[in-house]
Amino acid sequence: MINIVLFGPPGSGKGTQAQFLIEKYNLKQISTGDLFRYNIKNNTELGVLAKSYIDKGELVPDQVTIDMLIDELKKPTTTEGFIFDGFPRTATQTKALEKIVAEVLNQPISICLSLIVEDQLLVERLLKRGETSGRTDDSNKEIIANRIQEYYSKTAEVAELYKQQGKYVEVIGVGEIEEISQKLFAEIDKIK
Ligand code: AMP
Repeated sequence: MINIVLFGPPGSGKGTQAQFLIEKYNLKQISTGDLFRYNIKNNTELGVLAKSYIDKGELVPDQVTIDMLIDELKKPTTTEGFIFDGFPRTATQTKALEKIVAEVLNQPISICLSLIVEDQLLVERLLKRGETSGRTDDSNKEIIANRIQEYYSKTAEVAELYKQQGKYVEVIGVGEIEEISQKLFAEIDKIK
């Protein structure tokens, strides 16, 4: 089994790259952003709560996010591992994930792959995605700025925790999509 944390700021290409990794390594993707959007679309209680944070570009509270992730992880799957996309985003979530995978899967996190993209390009990519995605949090410059700010103030500490465990690997997330995938594959193959 291989369990990958795909890490990086909003717009760094986590969702795009996750698709290639899923196929190559037969993994199940768990994207907390997608799960929140599913709940928002279906107007669930969780969706209404999450929307109040997402629309401001803020993080949804840890416990709500962690509980949602546990539910998803417990669902049966035939895949050979997981790819966590957009989770963990805080130190609390990182520690919780470690505990959850140990308890539910009896496995550790294998690697944290971090996509590095400069801020200016992130903003450009998110605004462009907003033209077609219909995502309210992609279409407003202030919300985008807030999301990037949240990333630096809360999420960057996640990298530190994986660095301490020797599981943190940076990959430049700029260039051809396929070229970036190849770099990610190479890092995964090193630890397989
Ligand atoms: P994403 O699709 O990963 O860019 O996430 C969209 C939004 O969902 C974020 O800006 C947060 O408001 C919320 N979100 C997604 N994942 C998390 C998480 N792990 N912790 C807290 N909030 C999250």
